[in-house]
Amino acid sequence: MSFSIVTSSWFRFSFPLGLLLLIAFGIDNVTALISANESISINLPYVLFTATIVLGHVFKQSRCAMVGTAMLVTYWIIQNSLQSPLSTGTTLLELSLLAFSLPAACLAIYPFKDNTIRSKGFASYLAILVLFVIWSQLTLNYVVDTGANQQDYALLYVAPEVSRLPLVLVLYLTAVVLSCAIAVLKFNQIIDAAVYSSVLIASSTFVFFHVSYISSALFSLSGILLLIYLMSASYELAFNDRLTGIPGRLALESDLKHLGRKYSLAMLDIDHFKAFNDTYGHDTGDDVLKLVASKLREVGGNARVYRYGGEEFTVLFKGKFADDAWDHLEELRISIEEYELALRNMGARPKDNKEGSKKRNNSKKSDTVSLTISIGVADSYEARDTAVVLKAADQALYKAKQTGRNRVVAAQ
Ligand code: GH3
Ligand code: MG
Ligand code: MG
Repeated sequence: MSFSIVTSSWFRFSFPLGLLLLIAFGIDNVTALISANESISINLPYVLFTATIVLGHVFKQSRCAMVGTAMLVTYWIIQNSLQSPLSTGTTLLELSLLAFSLPAACLAIYPFKDNTIRSKGFASYLAILVLFVIWSQLTLNYVVDTGANQQDYALLYVAPEVSRLPLVLVLYLTAVVLSCAIAVLKFNQIIDAAVYSSVLIASSTFVFFHVSYISSALFSLSGILLLIYLMSASYELAFNDRLTGIPGRLALESDLKHLGRKYSLAMLDIDHFKAFNDTYGHDTGDDVLKLVASKLREVGGNARVYRYGGEEFTVLFKGKFADDAWDHLEELRISIEEYELALRNMGARPKDNKEGSKKRNNSKKSDTVSLTISIGVADSYEARDTAVVLKAADQALYKAKQTGRNRVVAAQ
């Protein structure tokens, strides 16, 4: 499904880069377009970032709103005090202070939890932004008061063939962008993509600051991307299961409406899960659900997986009848059966440390446990109606339970 491509980590990494390159290649056209519609283009980033903050509030995505606020303040400073040439007055110093502060302000969102913008977290973040502004202003005042001129603070080496910005700042920006890119590729969270795209785009603006209208063009792009991330975050919230991170029942119901002639559906249920919960505690039970979800993600055959509810999952194979899906399901069943779950902080573990380590030394096995799943699968060979196929898969699952569990049973 196309949605999984746009939410992949590689797409999130390369999409802002690709758009930046497009703008770089067409910079003359972009500049001409902006100068022809100057007042709209210059005000567009304000509109986009304000929309980000409002939607961040509505969707309880305050961290996206924080990034939007930092970008809004930065853009306001650029428009109101950085419009003179970099070689005059304190413009270069001001730009340098901004180039240092913005990435730090974007990274400062990480300790916060998502909420509305009427939260203590958002107020604290605003206080952090104010501190950055005060610090920058004090530095500027100091430079002006002591009569330092451009030469004095230009001891920070500038390589004009790279940027008018001191080289050390170019390297700092590169390091922050690379760290954010690694976070996107590794964790693939929407908030990582929002921080990465904002830091990347703001850094490009700072490095190529001498290009006319660059801040309006690039900050507009950043505002649009932030809005896209906000939309996909609210989509994920509605369609993905919170505990396991895989799509939930709503996503399944939506996908079932768009099926072709040929498909199969499997219902999967963890065996004796109630007893597992009773023995090891609900938290360990939750860890098991996450583990099963992560194993499900590895199922081959272009399967899409969902948490149906509780300890039940659904696997959808588009374009395959049950015969073709069977091997993938059997592989999944075996991989879960063979997985030795390491148990930490479980209720049944001995409370006394000494006793615990003795037990661990005596038998390594006591810290691991394995579990099994039962699967029922049905396809659209006889009936295409998804409700009928789902019911048949459920009956096959019941049969798998009745005939001993830990097996895959196909509907007759
Ligand atoms: P069977 O082999 O017949 O499927 O036995 P079972 O014990 O797995 O079946 P049953 O449907 O009776 O129990 C399901 C249990 O799943 C009940 C509940 O404690 C547990 N469960 C459901 N949702 C969650 C959850 O989100 N977290 C945890 N930890 N447990 C859950
Ligand atoms: Mg069940
Ligand atoms: Mg069960």
